[in-house]
Amino acid sequence: MNKVQYSSDQLRHFWMPFSSNRNFKQRPRMFVGAKDMHFTTDDDRQVLDATAGLWCCNCGHSRTQIVTAIQEQSAKLDFCPAFQMGHPKVFELAKRLGKEVFPGDLNTVFFSNSGSEAVDSALKIALAYQFHRGKENKTLFIGRNRAYHGVNFGGISVGGIPNNKKWYGNLIRAEHIRDTHDLERNAFTRGQPEHGIDFADDLARLIDQHGASSIAAVIVEPIAGSTGVLIPPRGYLQKLRDICTANDILLIFDEVITGFGRIGKPTAAERFGVQPDMITFAKGVNSGTVPLGGVAIRDDIYDLFLEHTAGNIIDLFHGYTYSGHPLAVAAGLGALDVYLKEGLFERALELEQHWEDALHSLRDLPHVIDIRNFGLIGAIEFSPRDGEPTARAYDAFCDAFHNEDLLIRTTGDIIALSPPLIINDDQIDQIFDRLNKVLTRLK
Ligand code: PLP
Repeated sequence: MNKVQYSSDQLRHFWMPFSSNRNFKQRPRMFVGAKDMHFTTDDDRQVLDATAGLWCCNCGHSRTQIVTAIQEQSAKLDFCPAFQMGHPKVFELAKRLGKEVFPGDLNTVFFSNSGSEAVDSALKIALAYQFHRGKENKTLFIGRNRAYHGVNFGGISVGGIPNNKKWYGNLIRAEHIRDTHDLERNAFTRGQPEHGIDFADDLARLIDQHGASSIAAVIVEPIAGSTGVLIPPRGYLQKLRDICTANDILLIFDEVITGFGRIGKPTAAERFGVQPDMITFAKGVNSGTVPLGGVAIRDDIYDLFLEHTAGNIIDLFHGYTYSGHPLAVAAGLGALDVYLKEGLFERALELEQHWEDALHSLRDLPHVIDIRNFGLIGAIEFSPRDGEPTARAYDAFCDAFHNEDLLIRTTGDIIALSPPLIINDDQIDQIFDRLNKVLTRLK
């Protein structure tokens, strides 16, 4: 099929998020369909999806069981008011997530529509929890440099991305521990880096500086995804947990990317064997089909809110019109069935060795300064081009899409890979054969 042409007026009106609108509109990259491991372009090419969309379509695309669940739900109950009213499926999904996905006593679920809203919900719950405990002074949050916790004001405050601070300021009180990226000691590590448990000491330093009595919660991504796949050094997450416990500070894991089988268990908390007090999730919860996110919360946190309210008083002064939307929830139940029936929560563990070997086969190609992996996540870091940071990875992204029928994701000068969990060994080889060609000709 010939390349489809779009007039500038056709493309002018939609302001694309996190995109170079100028570049895209000069040479559009359009998808018109998707099935299993592939997208279909407007010129009818089959593009292999090495990113599960945006880290979300873990079950693969347009899976019949999920599609049918959404279709049937939309014909039966299109909407249900989220405040003071309910529908059975939202309770069913919350219960199943508590029992079948989230570890320990994280059995209470609050629903949002996105990861950003999940994070801001968790921060608010943390503040109100400390308030109900009579610890009103615990209002400071600790995040981490290079963290991405979405785009809302809470999330950008605890996040560690300099552009957010520059453009929007720092709107809730937050301090940051250092990130765990250490190329000098850990470059080309397979799995968890050996060095860096000491980075957790930075938390103890901030607690000394501000006092535990002023800190509500620490929030970290178990693996920082959006800023370039930063794998936690061995023992690091447990050390954060120990410091939080010793200082009566809540620990929130932002598992928007790491949840739902991405690293071979339902959650990163389970894979790393570290129990947080809350987990934020989104994306994979319904395989990216209908906007849905949320927070899994320790039972006793929820109980405390109920103890502090009586009669018809609202216990959590927070919520969204679309919290637990019937379509999103039906998709969540459908996706959960697919995950369990097809063993997708464990699949990344089965594929991990092949994935790791194939990924690291690129280590001697030009400009590559690091390769790292965990579960079905991989990253290739380039040395930046002189005076043109991010250009090298962006060129690789365009080349892969236009010339190799491959969708990858880049952030800075890093390629981040996270295919749907239904991928097979041949498709893994296809990803890295195609990337080999792209990297070999990369300037
Ligand atoms: N938290 C993490 C760890 C993420 O990776 C993301 C998105 O990539 C978000 C939050 C924000 O999610 P959303 O884009 O659904 O708002």
